[in-house]
Amino acid sequence: MSVGVETSVYMNVSIMGCGCNKKEKKTGPSVQEYGGKKPLVMPSITKQAWNFTKSLTKYVKSGMHDAGKEVFEQRIAVCNTCPWRKDEKCSKCGCFIDVKAKWGTSTCPDDRWPEYKIK
Ligand code: SF4
Repeated sequence: MSVGVETSVYMNVSIMGCGCNKKEKKTGPSVQEYGGKKPLVMPSITKQAWNFTKSLTKYVKSGMHDAGKEVFEQRIAVCNTCPWRKDEKCSKCGCFIDVKAKWGTSTCPDDRWPEYKIK
């Protein structure tokens, strides 16, 4: 008995699955579909709330020590060219950049900011 080409293709598809790429569906569209730049994904709301609570606790414990105008401007300059920046927020931690840069106890989650020690 001979098996035709169409039957053979059908059998291969049946054995290997439906032929759809499940991995691609799971991870979303490819980078090429976004014109070479994949949109940044923010951390979950729970993770953002946790990160903010940790930062706020450190800031309050320090006596609400602000970094000062010069350090604030240095930090903002770095954030402005950072690939993690998404609008007014840092997509690495989910914090508002202007608030984060103002607090003396804040640190960049990607170690991009200049070193700052509270005096
Ligand atoms: S805090 Fe750090 S990681 Fe986030 S946007 Fe600024 S430089 Fe980038």
